[in-house]
Amino acid sequence: AVGAVGYASYVVYQNRHPTEQKQFDPSKRTIVLLGTGWGAVSFLKKLNTDDFNVIIVSPRNYFLFTPLLPSCTVGTIELRSIMEPIRFITRHKSRNVKFYESECTDIDPESKTISITDVSDIKGAVSNTTIPYDYLVVAIGADNQTFGMAGVREHACFLKEIWDAQKIRTRLMDCVESAGFASQTPEEVSRLLHMVVVGGGPTGVEYAAELHDFLKDDLQIWYPELVDKLRITLVEALPNVLPMFSSQLIQYTERTFKQNNIEVLTKTMVKEVADKEIKVMDANKNMVSIPYGLLVWATGNCPRPLARKLMARLKEGGQSSPRGLLIDEYMRVAGAQDMYAIGDCTFTKYAPTAQVATQQGLYLASVFANLARIERGENRKISPFEYTHQGSLAYIGSDRAIADLPFLNGNVSVGGVATYVFWRSVYISNMFSFRNRFLVVGDWVKSRIFGRDVSR
Ligand code: FAD
Ligand code: MG
Ligand code: MG
Ligand code: MG
Repeated sequence: AVGAVGYASYVVYQNRHPTEQKQFDPSKRTIVLLGTGWGAVSFLKKLNTDDFNVIIVSPRNYFLFTPLLPSCTVGTIELRSIMEPIRFITRHKSRNVKFYESECTDIDPESKTISITDVSDIKGAVSNTTIPYDYLVVAIGADNQTFGMAGVREHACFLKEIWDAQKIRTRLMDCVESAGFASQTPEEVSRLLHMVVVGGGPTGVEYAAELHDFLKDDLQIWYPELVDKLRITLVEALPNVLPMFSSQLIQYTERTFKQNNIEVLTKTMVKEVADKEIKVMDANKNMVSIPYGLLVWATGNCPRPLARKLMARLKEGGQSSPRGLLIDEYMRVAGAQDMYAIGDCTFTKYAPTAQVATQQGLYLASVFANLARIERGENRKISPFEYTHQGSLAYIGSDRAIADLPFLNGNVSVGGVATYVFWRSVYISNMFSFRNRFLVVGDWVKSRIFGRDVSR
């Protein structure tokens, strides 16, 4: 125990007192890295900055641990517990890494420059500029898929970024308080307390699960007069939720949802989104109107405008897919020189997950280690990227989780409370810092003891 405390103190001290860094070196090549998400941060953590200068460009000056974002929408975990300032990472590299909080608006592969814009509310005298690169790593992630449907951006909440979780949490409590407003009509109470989730992938399922827990553990106590009227509906176009999981776990999830009074509408397509209702075509091809108070939209990814712009520029070079940047098995962007891409902005045979982005990021760091070796005159060859699937996990509510895990060339499917404990330990061990682990565990303990915070 003394050893453990000693070690923890050492880690914390180190974290707060980074050692001196080597300065930018004009004789080294410069890598410009776009993004501070899973792909970018995994790459950066492993990259040897003795060999390269690094400039990071991202509109977000922190890394976000997305798997726990659904827990933040109801306050099981606090938002700041799953954020990690990028400086905590860059300041520990051997050479000084520059970070510009800005959005890359254009990439010119010909002149090897990018345009960047300061997107914060407060700007200095200079807020637009271009910077040159020797190597470019594109790890900008993806946008929310709306299928071009009018009304989605205006009326629905997404669940991808910090501000999305904040907005959901505020809207949820707004709905509850407005439903309790003096002499509210019964129809309005029923509408305001109808929480609709569109999309039956892991994000939609986990959000519905967290919402159910919040309802059962907390709203039941603090809003007893309203809680029976609160309904959760999950809308999915496919015949079942969680298509990436085994059929056994899909059924287990659907059973659990039924027990938890979460209504699952499968084979149901959203056709129209208005401010107080959505119109859907149900499994029998009938148009039905569903009034809602809160609408959460989690239907997957589409390429960001920047990725689309780049794809259009490189069309002749082989960027032929509308679904994302095409790369080879060394992460090189098709049709460009010295340009690499990883994670959700790419279109490959892999699912858009943190697991894939992380492995690609780590792999790309070894590609660069190899480039440095070649530059030093060592003749090396590097093997192509290979993805190792470590399993799929999801939280489904009432302290139950599901997991499909590869095992001896096969697959084991498990679900229940023990899996939930496993789910928690996997997430904790995958967090990037001791500080984040400490904060998340603290939040879990706090919400167990005191319940979740129901203030708006
Ligand atoms: P991101 O992590 O999205 O990072 C993109 C970065 O690029 C961000 O920093 C962004 O600010 C920045 N950026 C955007 N535009 C620009 C620009 N123009 N210029 C510069 N920078 C830009 N995956 C799992 O494996 N397991 C899970 O349990 C899991 N749960 C999830 C839960 C939720 C709620 C969500 C939303 C996702 C979840 N995922 C999970 C998926 C996972 O988060 C993504 O696959 C992963 O984030 C992809 O990494 P990335 O680096 O490609 O993109
Ligand atoms: Mg990234
Ligand atoms: Mg991320
Ligand atoms: Mg993209």
